[in-house]
Amino acid sequence: MPQNRAITVNLGCRLNASETEAMAALAEARGDAPVIINTCAVTNEAVRQSRQAIRRAAREHPDRDVIVTGCAAELQPEAFETMPEVSRRVPNADKTDPASWQLTGSTGPRNIDVRAPLAVQNGCDHRCTFCIIPFGRGDARSLPIDEACENAMALVRRGAEEIVLTGVDLTSWGPDLGEDLSLGHLVEALDKALPRHIWIRLSSIDGAEIDDRLFSLMTEVERIAPHAHLSLQAGDDMILKRMKRRHNRAQAIDLCQRLREQRPDMAFGADLIAGFPTETEAMFEQSLRLVEECDLAYVHVFPFSPRQGTPAAKMPQLDRARIKERAARLRATADDALNRHLNKHVASEGEVLIEEIKNGVPRGRLANFTDVHFAANATVQPGARVRARLTAATGRHLLAEPIETKE
Ligand code: SF4
Repeated sequence: MPQNRAITVNLGCRLNASETEAMAALAEARGDAPVIINTCAVTNEAVRQSRQAIRRAAREHPDRDVIVTGCAAELQPEAFETMPEVSRRVPNADKTDPASWQLTGSTGPRNIDVRAPLAVQNGCDHRCTFCIIPFGRGDARSLPIDEACENAMALVRRGAEEIVLTGVDLTSWGPDLGEDLSLGHLVEALDKALPRHIWIRLSSIDGAEIDDRLFSLMTEVERIAPHAHLSLQAGDDMILKRMKRRHNRAQAIDLCQRLREQRPDMAFGADLIAGFPTETEAMFEQSLRLVEECDLAYVHVFPFSPRQGTPAAKMPQLDRARIKERAARLRATADDALNRHLNKHVASEGEVLIEEIKNGVPRGRLANFTDVHFAANATVQPGARVRARLTAATGRHLLAEPIETKE
């Protein structure tokens, strides 16, 4: 890494990732090249990894400042500030404020991903019983529409071909700005502001908070990616109640069916927790069945781990072996679901947005988020949209060959 480039270590969510990029640009603009570690507190394991990352960074880069921020450092400021490896802690609320980096003006250009995260929401007003995030991120707050459109256009000018809207609780964007706003209003404004070829993608969303406006946009506007990653968490109503989630099993299934009816190429992802306290075998099987009933393609499996300070940590816990065993079964079900999804595409054609060339292999995604790899000799470049013949499925991604390239 060139000496004048900041080194970034991002733990946790896509919101963290987009903030890490912004902080690196702020540091570099004032000629600094620290190591920036954006910590995560979603599980005890994430906190342990954050500390580990700090120690490693100081070992590997003894000549650089180590600056820490993020939810773990926010929730235990003293514990992190007193680590000998840490030069400075930046509070979560100040991390993207130029003043935190002693800067007054805007930042210089920095290479960005073809699929660029855009942070439009922060904080959360919900209190899911397993989650510590609201205590690290504060109340829900939204980036005003004009600023969001400006930031999105700035990303497009710097090479983004897709804008991924991110937040802690993305679908709660709007009400704090008054005027009865909801996420649909923001997506509508971005749809008007951005060049037609730019894809707009929603990162993780809460199905219970999708209103009619957003539903119409997701199903009727072609450049809004036909992909919804739903924060489902479990398939059993009693467990959902004990999690303090805002939806039930039937509503989750109904939402996926209605979205799919209106937009047949829609693909679904979801977060599911295995082994939540008090979960019986019968309740767990409801989560297994939900994968097929919602026709999920991308399932992120989280073995439950009690987070100190949350109500769920005080509930009767399952033993670790059972949690691990259930997580393994849920992952196996997820693999089958991904296989089903991939096989549906074999021997068809699709438009692939090329994201990178990794180890000589070009790879990208279809609009519905399906991962697609090309042969090493394929003459396609990052940022290009390639019409492709989808020839085979590998269990993790599709193989493809280019039909034509549109620059
Ligand atoms: S919606 Fe629930 S899981 Fe998501 S950040 Fe808020 S409290 Fe946590």
